[in-house]
Amino acid sequence: MSPSSQLADLLSGPVVVLTGAGVSAESGVPTFRGSGGLWRSYRATDLATPTAFARDPRLVWKFYSWRRELVAACRPNPAHKTLAQMERRLPDFTLITQNVDGLHQAAGSQRVVELHGSLWRVRCTRCSYQAEDRRVPLPQLPPRCPRCEGLLRPDVVWFGEALPQGVLEQAWAAAGRASVMLVVGTSAVVEPAASLPRLAKARGAYLIEINPEETPLSPYADEVIREPAGQALPAWWQQINLSSSQSVL
Ligand code: NAD
Ligand code: ZN
Repeated sequence: MSPSSQLADLLSGPVVVLTGAGVSAESGVPTFRGSGGLWRSYRATDLATPTAFARDPRLVWKFYSWRRELVAACRPNPAHKTLAQMERRLPDFTLITQNVDGLHQAAGSQRVVELHGSLWRVRCTRCSYQAEDRRVPLPQLPPRCPRCEGLLRPDVVWFGEALPQGVLEQAWAAAGRASVMLVVGTSAVVEPAASLPRLAKARGAYLIEINPEETPLSPYADEVIREPAGQALPAWWQQINLSSSQSVL
């Protein structure tokens, strides 16, 4: 059996994909650690924090308003589309993303575990109000809660904050039973997401990394594809399909 037909067999078991900012880079969404990680003179990683929001909510909202505008003009790329196809074709598939841009859903993915929330949701800092809000631009910055007039914040997980209840458990459970784990476009340094591939590997998953650059995860991967995801992922998926019996995939 060829290596890719062996992999096709593994793909009939639980498949888990973890994506990071790199999967959206070719759609034009800047990563935080790359050259696009600056807004005005601020480092994005300094603004995406509870401390920054407490100090200056309007500034942080201006940053998010800019990101929402930027992402609204971006389209899913072939990597997002391939992952949506994988969801449709594989019997047991979980997509976990650290991204907040909504591009997986725009590509057609139906079930996305969003570890870090979404740019397209807001929630109240005072009451339990939470809602989708896709307006670009927002009419008022910072936006106010329609229920209690409290300050709204983006429903994203900032650096230093805990992940939403339930979401992490879901991700751990999926990673712990994966037969294949694909890690696409993440630097694998932001915890706890970075631990998911390590858990999968420790439980015996076949680990594949797609990233043009080396990451702390690279030494543990069974297969490393050092190419941009928009090219590498469709090519990899096509290769699997060519070498597999039609009945499996
Ligand atoms: P990250 O830590 O996931 O790093 C980006 C990774 O993508 C790097 O390892 C880089 O080598 C790789 N990469 C770059 N271009 C690529 C390509 N074309 N194909 C495949 N890989 C590529 O992300 P970060 O930017 O450091 O952000 C940290 C956190 O901030 C994220 O976990 C997320 O919550 C948030 N964030 C989200 C978005 C988004 O929603 N698109 C963008 C920026 C940051
Ligand atoms: Zn409220």
